[in-house]
Amino acid sequence: MINKLFSNPNKSNFIVFLLVGYLIAAGCWWSYLLYVKNQDAWLAKIALLARELADEGLMEYADLQKNQSYQLINQKYSRQEKMIMGEGLVLIVLMIIGLRRVYNLHKKEELLQQQQQNFLLSITHELKSPLASVQLVLETMQKRDLSKEQQQKLTQHALAENERLKNHINAMLLSAKVEGGYTYSLQPLSLVQIAEELIEQEQLKYKGQIELLTTEDDCLIMADSLTMQTALSNLLENAIKYAADTAKIVVKVQPIGDKKVEFEVQDWGLGISKGEKNRIFDKFYRVGNEHTRQKQGTGLGLYIVKKVVEAHKGSITVVDNQPTGAIFRVVLDKYITQDLA
Ligand code: ADP
Repeated sequence: MINKLFSNPNKSNFIVFLLVGYLIAAGCWWSYLLYVKNQDAWLAKIALLARELADEGLMEYADLQKNQSYQLINQKYSRQEKMIMGEGLVLIVLMIIGLRRVYNLHKKEELLQQQQQNFLLSITHELKSPLASVQLVLETMQKRDLSKEQQQKLTQHALAENERLKNHINAMLLSAKVEGGYTYSLQPLSLVQIAEELIEQEQLKYKGQIELLTTEDDCLIMADSLTMQTALSNLLENAIKYAADTAKIVVKVQPIGDKKVEFEVQDWGLGISKGEKNRIFDKFYRVGNEHTRQKQGTGLGLYIVKKVVEAHKGSITVVDNQPTGAIFRVVLDKYITQDLA
């Protein structure tokens, strides 16, 4: 019965709220009761003392307040009064903090559920649509007598769709790997060389100009080649995907001081609003505007980038570009070789 109640997150949250609410009300009530009982006990003790003193004919009732025993009783009970109020307050504050925490966890869980549902919807679409395209191409080739040129065009299309499918599957596998269990095998890599290779690869698909800005420095890092290249390529692919069709994209690789290096991707696309900047690195998160929805994606790209960069003890930030667009900046430790050191 209890298991059944707690298996439904909404019901179990309601029960937890109810319980904590009851505990807060009970805490207030017991504190008040203790306070009243303390006052009653004080009154009884004082009355007893007054009677004892009067019986012994030691003191008039009016002089009671000057009596030392009276003052000791008074001090003791006022200390107890403060203790009851203090403890009651701490209890209530702790319970309110607890309630707030439960509420935040509940909100987080709701968000995660929604993101997972979004992911399922988009991933189903993303996986199904290339498969459907390839099937259509194969059926067309089977049924129709096509010229060599038509066959070439269709094959090209099928290959591109296949590549898309492969990329999505790779992203899903990589995100599962970087969540735990992946062994990063570190080796010295040149950030400049990675940037050059990525740009060469992406420039084949992109009509606009991708410019590389570097210095004399090779910007060596100690990194895992597979995951680092995928992470940095995700940034460039996003700039291409979310920027206007032919807008310029700048990739900057440079040293920062003696110990750090920076890899920056700057685009002049729509940019990212203030409220979304923290959330775009969450798993499955996609900005919900019309422009983004038109683009294919799973919401895993930036999640992978953040995980990989953090695994390399680096940092990633996003700021607005001027007049529009976004700048993604990755900062990593510079690898200093023995000959240079
Ligand atoms: P996906 O691209 O598959 O949606 P990402 O994790 O790579 O997933 O990106 C998350 C969201 O961040 C995207 O849906 C997009 O709205 C936003 N985003 C990422 N890069 C950019 C960019 N360069 N310009 C504008 N928006 C971006």
